[in-house]
Amino acid sequence: MQYFFVLPLNYEKIAAYFANPYKNKCMQVFKFGGASIKSADAVRNMVEILKRFPDEKILIVVSAMGKTTNALEEILHLKLKKLSTKATIQKLYEDHANIVNSLFDDHASEPLEFLQSIFEELENSLEKIDINHYDQSYDSIISYGEIISSNLLLKYLELKEFSITKVNAYELVRTDDTFRDASVNWIKTKETISEKVKNEFTNHQLLITQGFLGGTEEGQITTLGREGSDFSAAIFAYSLNAKAVTIWKDVPGILNADPKKIQDAVLYQELSYKEAAEMTYYGASVIHPKTIKPLANAGIPMHVRSFSKADKGGTIIHDCKVIHEIPCIIIKEKQSLISFQLNDFTFITESLIGKIFDTLNKHHIKINMMQNTAISFSICVNDDLHRLDQLMSELKNDFSILYNTGLELITIKNFNESLIDRMTHKKEIYLEQRTRKNYQVVVKSLESRV
Ligand code: ASP
Ligand code: MG
Repeated sequence: MQYFFVLPLNYEKIAAYFANPYKNKCMQVFKFGGASIKSADAVRNMVEILKRFPDEKILIVVSAMGKTTNALEEILHLKLKKLSTKATIQKLYEDHANIVNSLFDDHASEPLEFLQSIFEELENSLEKIDINHYDQSYDSIISYGEIISSNLLLKYLELKEFSITKVNAYELVRTDDTFRDASVNWIKTKETISEKVKNEFTNHQLLITQGFLGGTEEGQITTLGREGSDFSAAIFAYSLNAKAVTIWKDVPGILNADPKKIQDAVLYQELSYKEAAEMTYYGASVIHPKTIKPLANAGIPMHVRSFSKADKGGTIIHDCKVIHEIPCIIIKEKQSLISFQLNDFTFITESLIGKIFDTLNKHHIKINMMQNTAISFSICVNDDLHRLDQLMSELKNDFSILYNTGLELITIKNFNESLIDRMTHKKEIYLEQRTRKNYQVVVKSLESRV
């Protein structure tokens, strides 16, 4: 008689193992976000961090400097409204030029020349944008932020005598042409990245690349969604089977609430992939929601550490069994609440809800919370005026639509009543929901009202 033991298997993990049977023990990925490179001092601090790892091969993923992405969005919107972009472009140029002058000192002429030519290129690209292809125009303009930062940082790290070269994410991260929210072709991406990066690492200690950017097979630049550089770090780490990813941030790690908004926030020393993914889903802005999955599938740990206190360990997200019972508060700002109603006492049927979902899907709008009653269906979504306009104009013949903007979605995991009172104090409640462990509420702050 034979006995068989059946073990639970994680097929994705096994597939990742056979795709690359050994962990790339000597290689890791660092991601520096906009805040960590927003000024000359911040960049010098980044250099100090890199000096702590003299023997490591590191792929550095960078965002645009400071608030560049927001500025580029503003420039694009001014241009689309046929307003002057001159002052905003000039300000953005000067912000970068100031950083260059401070960092490069006597060696500033070459990086300044680069800066001038790339800003000329940006202005030429602005002349070519097409209002009928908003998403594609968006990616062609917004991508300048990361292209500028990666080139300037490459030049500065070369000046500081690091052994470094640049690889371009828009040539390596292969995506479809869903501009502004591109989907990654994992097989092609892994193939291109592992080949190119391994090659470059044979001659260099460090590589630098752009976060947030991808490219189609035809060579068009795409972006992966706002704050997508964390996801880029995960894409590179997964494709290289890296030893670890570290996200260097302006917070000490992942806390149970945003320390900028809530004083007594507590740091998590470690989190399981599952808990971390859940937190990002509810809107914890500390990491991009798509980041965890590729790392969990390949078993790659992710560290979230403070760039200003680089000697501290921060939070590690990995394969662990810890389940936290302390409350966790996540506040997602810039939310809109849209309610679809029928005027003639007809109930909202599944097929009508289906129509709403199809339209949401078509315009790449994600639902953060939803609720239906007999005669209305309400969704809480990110304020993205361009997408929401398209949604509403497409559905306005079927429904009467009510619409509120400037709201917050608050999620409390492991809630208690006193915390709910504290979080909803001086707030007007628009929508509320609770399950056994989670409380969610859409609110408007009464204090910020004029
Ligand atoms: N620069 C992009 C943004 O601000 C991507 C990122 O920072 O992750 O959305
Ligand atoms: Mg950014």
